[in-house]
Amino acid sequence: MALVSAGVALARAGLGPTSQVFGRFPYRAETTEPTVALTFDDGPNEPWTSQLLDTLADRDVPATFFQVGRCARRYPDVTRRVVAEGHVLGNHSESHAFTRYATDPAQRREVEQGRATLHEVSGREPLLYRPPWLCHWPWVLRGISRTGSQVVSGTFAHPLELLQPRPEVLVAGAVRRARPGAVLILHDGREARGGYRGSSVGAVGGLIDRLRDRGYSFTTVDRLLGVPAYAPATT
Ligand SMILES: [Zn+2]
Repeated sequence: MALVSAGVALARAGLGPTSQVFGRFPYRAETTEPTVALTFDDGPNEPWTSQLLDTLADRDVPATFFQVGRCARRYPDVTRRVVAEGHVLGNHSESHAFTRYATDPAQRREVEQGRATLHEVSGREPLLYRPPWLCHWPWVLRGISRTGSQVVSGTFAHPLELLQPRPEVLVAGAVRRARPGAVLILHDGREARGGYRGSSVGAVGGLIDRLRDRGYSFTTVDRLLGVPAYAPATT
């Protein structure tokens, strides 16, 4: 039983979005300014990512997209549109495969390959890295830092987002979790597989409007944390 509790505690320390036990794992900025960063993981995934980009353009809100290399190869034009419309492109691994976490070299390859794919597709080389499942076991954090990437966590907008509850449910959950400096996590895809994301995307307009009513403005993760989004362009 003690072993089970220790295992649960270890899993929480390594997978909990706000756990700092194994090293710095930023999930918000220290600020009192009512500013949040909206982030979208697991895209691009059509038609949802394009619909999301339309909503953000309508409301003139910048966001940060943590994309999977494999998905960017599937929809390269959508990845390019993210950058062209002033959003920030972050790296969310090449294949979003849990088995790649077992060893440092395997997961480091995921970081490097994801970054190289996104660079090839978009012309930008992302330095922000969000590990799939927010996994940040000690060797994972060490490996990410060795690639020169900045690890980024966040706060899940809603714990049941995966089940795609009605958009109003997601909006209410996200508004409850918003704080000055928060990095809110939503999904426009599912791992590297895609799938239905109509509720998540349908929630974004209402979420922006509700937060604006409360005095919030929106920024990107690099600006919020004061770190560079991309490696310097090589010419
Ligand atoms: Zn993910």
